[in-house]
Amino acid sequence: MSVNIDWATLGFGYVKTPYRYVSLYKNGKWDNGTLTGDDKIVMTECAGVLQYAQTAFEGLKAYTTEDGKIVTFRPDLNAERMIESAKRLEMPPFPSDRFLEAVDRVVYANREYVPPYGSGATLYLRPFMFGSSAVIGVKPAMEYHFRLFATPVGPYFKGGIKPITIRVSDFDRAAPRGTGHIKAGLNYAMSLHAIVNAHEQGFDENMYLDPATRTYVEETGGANFIFVTRDKKTIVTPKSDSILPSITRRSLCYVAEKYLGLKVEHRPVKLEEVAEFAECGLCGTAAVISPVGKIYDHGKEIVFPSGMDSMGETTKKLYDTLTGIQMGKIPAPDGWIREIKCQ
Ligand SMILES: *Cc1c(COP(=O)(O)O)cnc(C)c1O
Repeated sequence: MSVNIDWATLGFGYVKTPYRYVSLYKNGKWDNGTLTGDDKIVMTECAGVLQYAQTAFEGLKAYTTEDGKIVTFRPDLNAERMIESAKRLEMPPFPSDRFLEAVDRVVYANREYVPPYGSGATLYLRPFMFGSSAVIGVKPAMEYHFRLFATPVGPYFKGGIKPITIRVSDFDRAAPRGTGHIKAGLNYAMSLHAIVNAHEQGFDENMYLDPATRTYVEETGGANFIFVTRDKKTIVTPKSDSILPSITRRSLCYVAEKYLGLKVEHRPVKLEEVAEFAECGLCGTAAVISPVGKIYDHGKEIVFPSGMDSMGETTKKLYDTLTGIQMGKIPAPDGWIREIKCQ
């Protein structure tokens, strides 16, 4: 059972699906929540989200496994992370169990839009919340929406996995002790200029450095770094309070240790030591891992030994193992896969 979409050529753009979940917060509590066919939101022009960017979001995927089940990957971690985002932005946290219920209900209601196994496409889920009541003096809104919609997205790597070229950015994405560690829309608003500028100059992404000293590696606009040492025995991931804790990165580190017998180091990584690594990848829900072939740093180039033609050997093992777990081909650790059952 599936709608008439060409999964192979589908891009990463919004495609309206029939159902989304909405819950409203008013008078100090969340209502019961409901599925709706209405994709429009009507609110005051003075809403907290419109005036002071009081909003946070999440991103996760539903897909069809080899044996035909529809599943999501570790949605409990998205629920927890959204609670952290809400707290930091003075929004009322949306309870985890209700977040999971919203995921299940939206996926099930839109199940015809979950791409078939092997298509490489997925159903992308976008939970988000925002202040909807009027705010003019700077303070948190009194009313909020929690919403979750689904949109089918095509295979991330069309025509094979190709390493990308990134640059060390002169812009920062987060402030020390700011909001870099939460999934706030405001972090993305301020990264738009940097990414447009990077693209204009022929780079795929920005590598952001730590905003205080600009000597340590943080992350890109929407993905965490993962490095492989030259002896191929250790995975290194940058540690900083202003990095968004990627669920993909945390899962890859677990896979590296428990499935591939690699050592994992989560520690501050200096920009100057990056050239010593053998492989580099960007991790996030969208791509799982996107290999980095080259980093441009103000006239100097770091070219990884894995090159510009293919994903590095260890990165590939990590990628294959994690996607194998997600697709039901490799046994998953307890609690990682949530099957969407008939509601
Ligand atoms: C969402 C996001 C990531 C990736 O997180 P996943 O949970 O793996 O999708 C990385 N960095 C930033 C800044 C993000 O917003």
